Amino acid sequence: MTAIDTLPPLREVIATHQLSARKSLGQNFLLDLNLTAKIARQAGDLSHCDVLEIGPGPGGLTRGLLAEGARRVLAVEKDGRCIPALAEIADAYPNRLQVIEGDALEVNPLEHLTPPIRVAANLPYNIGTELLVRWLTPKQWPPFWQSLTLMFQREVAERIVALPGTKKYGRLALLAQWRAEPNIVLSLPPGAFTPPPKVSSAVVHLTALPEPRFPADAGMLNKVVAAAFNQRRKMLRSALKSVSPDIEDHLKEAGIPPTERAEQVSLEGFCALARSLEPQI
Ligand code: SAM
Repeated sequence: MTAIDTLPPLREVIATHQLSARKSLGQNFLLDLNLTAKIARQAGDLSHCDVLEIGPGPGGLTRGLLAEGARRVLAVEKDGRCIPALAEIADAYPNRLQVIEGDALEVNPLEHLTPPIRVAANLPYNIGTELLVRWLTPKQWPPFWQSLTLMFQREVAERIVALPGTKKYGRLALLAQWRAEPNIVLSLPPGAFTPPPKVSSAVVHLTALPEPRFPADAGMLNKVVAAAFNQRRKMLRSALKSVSPDIEDHLKEAGIPPTERAEQVSLEGFCALARSLEPQI
């Protein structure tokens, strides 16, 4: 094993700071620094970037990001027990690591970051999807981030990259694929984590596209997609009745048979439907 820095091994850090994993905080730690360096490399060239990390825990991925050359890392951690362990990393990398103790759903990291910005995290599973949706639906596009490199349960990762006609295709896939390019870049078995979770995990890398793949109003697209997949077994003319009384006409204008189900409709089709419903775009 090659040590990526001169800090103590993570098992020792956990013992010294008594960081027994808490399920309520989604704590499944990565203790292999070769693996955290590998995940950090998936985030792309970090040398000119600030990196936002959510949930650094004992700091395995944080160390990977810094060793791989991140200009600065801003780490937001809810568990106060981890802060002294992270302070040791900050000492080893002067002026390159800032730690905020707080809830990632409450903290506004933008006050502390300078573009270009990348996001990298082994996310707590209970807030992972919510954070992803927030990052994919900002008020303005392009977003504050160039790329997101995120660990998810394998099942969620598959929903992000799912294609039409598959069971996992839905709102998350459409949101992720409309204005970003998502790819599963690593798969990890439960045994890669301490303690091991019940399910496998995967790292998804999403690159922000400068422009959406197809024009559409974000609010209308979101509304249509949410309604369509809320009743995914129904034909679209019924599932989308609440969106417009003339939905059959709009579906026809968008080139979508009104008897189609949401699962069969491509991203391009949903964008055409959103444009038909919101013609000023
Ligand atoms: N990055 C570390 C690693 O890879 O070993 C820890 C990953 S662990 C899956 C998730 C981390 O997120 C834990 O350290 C946990 O305390 C933290 N966390 C949980 N909820 C959080 C929240 N709302 N805001 C910030 N951090 C949170």
